[in-house]
Amino acid sequence: MLTKNQTYRQHDNEKISFYRSSVDDLNSKDQLNADIDIDVCVIGGGLTGISSALNLSKKGYTVAICEARKVGWGASGRNGGQLGIGMRKDQYTVEKMLGINHAKELWNLGLESVDEVKSLIKENNIDCHLVNGVMSTACFEKDIDEYKFEIEHMSKNYQFEGYKYFNKSEIKHEIDSDIYQAGMLNSGSYHLNPLKLTISLANLIKKNVKIYENNRVLKLYEKNDKVEIVTKNGIIKANKVVVACNGYLDTLLGSKKNKFIPINNYIVATEPLGEKKAREIIRNNYAVCDTRFIIDYYRFSEDWRMIFGGGETFTSKFVKDSKSFVTKRMLKVFPQLKDYKIDYSWGGTLAITVNRLPHFGSIMNNKVIYAFGYSGHGLALSVLAGKLIAEHINGNSDRFKFFSDISHMSIPCGSLLRRPIYSSTIMYYKFRDYLSS
Ligand SMILES: Cc1cc2nc3c(=O)[nH]c(=O)nc-3n(C[C@H](O)[C@H](O)[C@H](O)COP(=O)(O)OP(=O)(O)OC[C@H]3O[C@@H](n4cnc5c(N)ncnc54)[C@H](O)[C@@H]3O)c2cc1C
Repeated sequence: MLTKNQTYRQHDNEKISFYRSSVDDLNSKDQLNADIDIDVCVIGGGLTGISSALNLSKKGYTVAICEARKVGWGASGRNGGQLGIGMRKDQYTVEKMLGINHAKELWNLGLESVDEVKSLIKENNIDCHLVNGVMSTACFEKDIDEYKFEIEHMSKNYQFEGYKYFNKSEIKHEIDSDIYQAGMLNSGSYHLNPLKLTISLANLIKKNVKIYENNRVLKLYEKNDKVEIVTKNGIIKANKVVVACNGYLDTLLGSKKNKFIPINNYIVATEPLGEKKAREIIRNNYAVCDTRFIIDYYRFSEDWRMIFGGGETFTSKFVKDSKSFVTKRMLKVFPQLKDYKIDYSWGGTLAITVNRLPHFGSIMNNKVIYAFGYSGHGLALSVLAGKLIAEHINGNSDRFKFFSDISHMSIPCGSLLRRPIYSSTIMYYKFRDYLSS
């Protein structure tokens, strides 16, 4: 059963985000009026769910998506738009966690995830403003050595030449802020408008896939050879279920919720600055992400608004005034933006795992498959997840296993402690970030 205050309801009374203002909703006409029987039921209309449906329907399965609100209602329609290769942790750390061979497979899958999104955009002419380049900016002196190490390590061991180092004066030339010590450009990564991507992909599949919006799933259980999915508007019987709710999962998968901490993160969008002013701030229109524990990340939108994200909360409610919460952070980086109006502010919830790697798996005798916990690095990986889930359901689990074989710690004492534990960690790192600012 779901908890009383479902996480996705946090957004019910909020104002429109920049992304929502930039694209029409899907407004699916599909209505679940009677009980149905299908091959696969996908729960969640974000990128994991839509990509799963896309790949499964291509393989000939009958698929329906149940989304509690609208397609792109969750993090897929609210995120920073940074389409990054790799995992949330740097590759050397992944090697230490999993061993070199497993880490190399994940590196290749990370490259594939971005390629997959790029191909979908190209093949289907999706207008979501893909721009090349994500710059990491160093807030700490120690980051300089870490950048240099990573560039060399990736060149030597992975033949990856997509990183480039920027010293203090070079980074100031690229990004007009006084707070950075250095930078590292990742030319394998991109940025884009994520809601346009999500809704465009949903539009692509709606001929073949039933998309039931405003139809939340209340519970699911195994019955005979099938799973019965009890939804607000009817019961769906399916051979397989894909649970794609990420940070909004709540208790739908029982104790699996203890494998991640739901974090709220916030974004503001300024009024349009015009290309000239925008390029004074970020010369080459890269997306940017800094090295603090609670990161700042930002980029310019297709109409030259500063889209600035930063600041986290971990309670079950959003901050009341996310606009000033994030604007304060933005002005520390770019005081020159103080006279620009903030047109939009919004937040979203993401799922963070202890090791920051995604958690894939299955329950109910492999009838219910799930993927969550992208830890803030899920824009590309969620699209890849859908592809791997479809392969797994179709009988080839080789690549799905590279994720499902990763062991994940449960947060001790589950519901009681997961938010407090994270909150004390955050306090420590906030203090550390504060000392550096
Ligand atoms: C503010 C923010 C910034 C981010 N920035 C970046 C970034 O720049 N780059 C990056 O790589 N990643 C980023 N992320 C992470 C990324 O957005 C996510 O990892 C990714 O979108 C997860 O996609 P998903 O489809 O798994 O989940 P979501 O997109 O969250 O979709 C889950 C869906 O499940 C639905 N749902 C929940 N419960 C039910 C139910 N019971 N029945 C039916 N439907 C249900 C929800 O309504 C929601 O639509 C960010 C996340 C946030 C919140």
